[in-house]
Amino acid sequence: MGQALRSGLPLREHEIVDFLLPELADEVLDVNMVQRMTDSGRRIGFVITVVVGNNDGYVGVGRLRGREVGPAIRKTIDHAKLNMIEVKRGCGSWECGCFTPHTLPFKVVGRSGSVELTLKPAPQGIGLALAGVVKSIVRLSGIKDAWGFARGHTKTTVNYAFAAADALRQTMEYKVTPEQAARLHILSGPVAAFEINLAELKAQAAATAAAAALPKAEGKSEAEATVEGEGSPADASKPSEKEGGKAE
Ligand SMILES: [Zn+2]
Repeated sequence: MGQALRSGLPLREHEIVDFLLPELADEVLDVNMVQRMTDSGRRIGFVITVVVGNNDGYVGVGRLRGREVGPAIRKTIDHAKLNMIEVKRGCGSWECGCFTPHTLPFKVVGRSGSVELTLKPAPQGIGLALAGVVKSIVRLSGIKDAWGFARGHTKTTVNYAFAAADALRQTMEYKVTPEQAARLHILSGPVAAFEINLAELKAQAAATAAAAALPKAEGKSEAEATVEGEGSPADASKPSEKEGGKAE
């Protein structure tokens, strides 16, 4: 699923999402009755807003119009699957430091219409200090703790919902280095994939740290190298690499 989203190609068929994410849950956020005058009289329709999510890193919001509520809801759910977002999670709260992916990795701001919604990392146990549809969307994304602040016409449920989706999309678009990901335990997508990635990320971060620490730790060999290689830093790094190889 992550690869499908990162490819940048739009998801064209909801069946692909059903196959990749079989555990999807959905929730109807808003049913709005609309009336339209036509030549033959009054026509009633419904605008449906739904959220779908797997409670583990993937969430999508959709909105469609239909003539009957039931079929319109089903159509909108399938449509929401095409708007799937891969959410990044982490322990972004400095008050917490538990290093499990229970909240947002950093502060994000989403916008839709006049609504501006800020979602912030919260310590473990705070829960979702969010209102209404935003709470449903964030919960289905798998985030357990978060704080939120909204500005604008927050009574407009639909804008509120799309501002939440926009905020979560910001986590997807924000680039995180392997070092940051390992240090702050930032996870993109489902936890299971993260466990595997985390081992790789830790190894990468350790390798980077070891490479940076080597010249300092190898003070003696540097002195030896100075004798052999006449003191150029490029030469000094070579003997320490050899020693590192022997030690393993
Ligand atoms: Zn934490």
